[in-house]
Amino acid sequence: MITGNAAAAHTRAEPATADWRRLWREAVTDPGELLALLDLDHLAATVLPRLDTGFALRVPRGFVARMRRGDATDPLLLQVLPQAAELEDAPGFGLDAVGDLAARAARGVLHKYHGRALLVATGSCAVNCRYCFRRHFPYAEETAAANGWREAVEHLAGDATIEEVILSGGDPLSLSTAKLAELGDALAAIPHIRRLRIHTRLPVALPERIDTEFGAWLRSLPWPVAIVLHANHANEIDAGVVAACARLREAGATLLNQSVLLRAINDSVDALTDLSGRLFECGVLPYYLHQLDRVAGTAHFAIDDDAARALIDILRVRLPGYLVPRLVREVAHEAHKLPL
Ligand SMILES: *Cc1c(COP(=O)(O)O)cnc(C)c1O
Ligand code: SF4
Repeated sequence: MITGNAAAAHTRAEPATADWRRLWREAVTDPGELLALLDLDHLAATVLPRLDTGFALRVPRGFVARMRRGDATDPLLLQVLPQAAELEDAPGFGLDAVGDLAARAARGVLHKYHGRALLVATGSCAVNCRYCFRRHFPYAEETAAANGWREAVEHLAGDATIEEVILSGGDPLSLSTAKLAELGDALAAIPHIRRLRIHTRLPVALPERIDTEFGAWLRSLPWPVAIVLHANHANEIDAGVVAACARLREAGATLLNQSVLLRAINDSVDALTDLSGRLFECGVLPYYLHQLDRVAGTAHFAIDDDAARALIDILRVRLPGYLVPRLVREVAHEAHKLPL
């Protein structure tokens, strides 16, 4: 938006409103370039799959800047780099691992748990995480933002048991703030809605997304808002992420984090302890630590349940209770996420 203060705004350290779109477009999508940026060119022949997995590399440059150069085991790199292991079939790892297709209540609406309806707002994300179920979800037909949110809003308005609307995806903050405001306005007319929740990785993947315009929209909402971030490792949280969290809190949001337990990325007591501590420094409480959804192409990230429980048992000893995430698994047809 151009205003009389545009010149002054550009001299401030804070990014101008339009910047996140440009940063989004400039993301790294070529695996060879990613390896070159990290001084790992020599790995190109061995690491990268020769076949197309149908789920491309995508990672914002600011996230790449948080990776260690010359380290092929970097925990951020391993989350985004396509690997040959994705092409291996593993028993029990399928296409609809968590029964989402059965929970579909309207276009882009998953109504699985009491009182809460989840909107698959959009299929896009700033970063493509290799372990994500999103690699198989039929987004083309299933986004709630289609048709000006009409079908989703009709479902929410027609069911008075729904008190909480959860914006999820994909990443709902990949939509423009104007598009989100369309939904906010429609929800404000539904008397039984009492809470809004936003599940997003953008404050971590592309913290510039949390701009002044988004903060103003958040502050204007008539309900308490919870924002559930998604960070898996303390190294993801740099000064830009700290600043984005501060802006979200200034706008009145309660901040939580969900992580996925991932082999060779955060499956150690030290990694999980550091993550909880770092989150709390940003005013974020750990919420869920998810056992991996059993989705085809992700088996190499899986940790068995006994090892996962053993990790959490040690965290309970090391950390205050409020910094220990709940270890859960999403199971089809259950009434809530299952604690392990
Ligand atoms: C995870 C999830 C929710 C939210 O569950 P909480 O336990 O309240 O965080 C809601 N709907 C669906 C479909 C989900 O997968
Ligand atoms: S939905 Fe979340 S975990 Fe999945 S690719 Fe997008 S940002 Fe990553």
